[in-house]
Amino acid sequence: MQSKLPNVGTTIFTVMSQLAAQHGAVNLGQGFPDFPVPERLIEALDKAMRAGQNQYAMMTGTPALRQAIAGKTERCYGYRPDPDSEITVTSGASEAIFDAVHAVVRAGEEVIVLDPCYDCYEPAIDLAGARAVHVALDPETFAPDWQKVRDAVTSKTRMIITNTPHNPSGAMLTADDMRELADIVQKNGLYLISDEVYEHIVFDGRRHESALYYPELRERAFVISSFGKTYHCTGWKVGYAVAPPALSAELRKVHQYNTFCTFHPAQAAFAEMIEADPAHYETLGAFYQEKRDRFREQLAGTKFRPLAVPGGYFQLVDYSAVSDLDDVEFSRWLTKEHGVTGIPLSPFYETPQTGQRLLRLCFAKSEPTLDAAIERLKAP
Ligand code: PMP
Ligand code: GLN
Repeated sequence: MQSKLPNVGTTIFTVMSQLAAQHGAVNLGQGFPDFPVPERLIEALDKAMRAGQNQYAMMTGTPALRQAIAGKTERCYGYRPDPDSEITVTSGASEAIFDAVHAVVRAGEEVIVLDPCYDCYEPAIDLAGARAVHVALDPETFAPDWQKVRDAVTSKTRMIITNTPHNPSGAMLTADDMRELADIVQKNGLYLISDEVYEHIVFDGRRHESALYYPELRERAFVISSFGKTYHCTGWKVGYAVAPPALSAELRKVHQYNTFCTFHPAQAAFAEMIEADPAHYETLGAFYQEKRDRFREQLAGTKFRPLAVPGGYFQLVDYSAVSDLDDVEFSRWLTKEHGVTGIPLSPFYETPQTGQRLLRLCFAKSEPTLDAAIERLKAP
């Protein structure tokens, strides 16, 4: 059989998690917290299940959760999306991204992605019969070169996908970036997927530049987030898309026949959490900033050079003082020989940057996990 996705294998996250398990390595690869979710969230989930919220939820998401997301969005970005026509709850941000691509992108069209980029974008584009056009970010700062983006736009371009804070680098788009983006989107009649799953994990007093702040972006955007990141429960897979009514209507057509609806008890639990503790969002940055700072201080005792981390929960380290292996080889070697697993960057690129010696380490971990990793990273 001829594969529809000939270039897709098992994701690097799964490959590295398996290798870590096989070698008993400290796993700072696949991005997920290793500490418990808030007790209150578990209680809320339990309560929802016992209260009988175990059958199909509304296709668009429960009214309570959409109301809560509307309120939370207004508190954060000063814009209240209409819960009935502008918010759709999905099975993780991944489903929202898939639905958004399939809602608007047609066969033969092009979608601009900024490399290095998260792995689920391109397969969704390919399955729509479209083509991902890759534009490289700066290899050290991971800032976009908007002239290169403009040059990549053709008459076939339908959409651009951005991600801030950025996985794998943690880089964040600035207000100037958003103005450039708005100009490009408007002049060329493009749609935008703004992947904002790390929206609340931002450091040093920076402002997360949500597309929702900008009316000229908002009217053409699917703004996507994930409760997995915000409530430390990546395995629950609940996310959502905020988009204007016409775009939401198209997204819902795909969502309706893709999953139809999302795990009902978790929707009830998140609705309760958002209402009970609206300040949770504001504390998340400080919570992770402490981890970031401690981890970076500890890295100073190793040969790994940490790059700046404005947001997200990944630390990029340059390992050129340790080894000249390419990054895929190096991540395997570090797992097997020194018992620490990270994620190489080259799988995030169409054309990996030559000579780049970077590894992504996830610091969404408890102190003992990070301490154990640092002890091992001192060896090479
Ligand atoms: N986008 C980015 C940038 C991510 O890092 C992730 C998950 N790590 C996702 C989307 C997918 O989120 P979810 O697990 O909610 O599907
Ligand atoms: N998003 C997670 C990461 O970047 C991985 C999710 C997955 O394994 N699919 O590490």
